[in-house]
Amino acid sequence: MPRPYFEFLLSYNTDASYFPDVPDAAERSGVTIGVVNLQPRSVGTVRLASADPLDSPLIDPAYLSDQADVDLLVKGLRMAQQVAAAPALKPWAENIVPALDATDEEVAQHVRDDAAITFHSVGTVRMGRVDDPDAVLDPQLRVKGVQGLRVADASVMPDLIRGHTVAPSVFIGWRAADLITER
Ligand SMILES: Cc1cc2nc3c(=O)[nH]c(=O)nc-3n(C[C@H](O)[C@H](O)[C@H](O)COP(=O)(O)OP(=O)(O)OC[C@H]3O[C@@H](n4cnc5c(N)ncnc54)[C@H](O)[C@@H]3O)c2cc1C
Repeated sequence: MPRPYFEFLLSYNTDASYFPDVPDAAERSGVTIGVVNLQPRSVGTVRLASADPLDSPLIDPAYLSDQADVDLLVKGLRMAQQVAAAPALKPWAENIVPALDATDEEVAQHVRDDAAITFHSVGTVRMGRVDDPDAVLDPQLRVKGVQGLRVADASVMPDLIRGHTVAPSVFIGWRAADLITER
């Protein structure tokens, strides 16, 4: 089945900081077409800072560290530009940022400077097959090598689903209850 690469989030904004390149932005309002990469390839790390369990972990999300993510977002922004420049929106689209004639490299720079996240972090304690050496959990959500400990939240997802993460997290909790009570 074909799977989507992008989600487009359309929002109306009166906050001038959304349009840093637009003259008189404070007196204007605008529409943002957020391009969400639904399956980023960049992978971050969560590491121990020390042997003290009360120390905060070292979290490096490594956003956009894989060039493929930048390239994909450039393609998505090109699609968003087409939508913004469509005849139906033309009367309102006085300024399109990044500009329609921006080069791919300029659009890529826009991605690197202005990209934000949608807070769908997953996979730090991923589940997997018993013989998968990189899987922290077995398919019953049990921490391998530790007695009596399961994890049931978004961190167990092996990869990011191509959608938002609350509903699957609730489902994982529901499934964990079944596994624990052996229903
Ligand atoms: C700003 C923001 C917006 C988002 N918007 C959406 C959205 O629109 N749609 C969507 O699907 N997803 C959205 N998400 C993602 C979604 O919220 C998460 O994927 C989801 O909540 C993950 O569920 P979880 O159970 O893994 O973690 P959480 O929901 O973070 O639950 C962890 C719980 O553990 C508790 N906790 C932490 N430490 C301890 C401790 N030591 N003892 C006891 N309790 C503790 C916390 O208080 C919290 O209640 C958003 C996330 C953020 C941050």
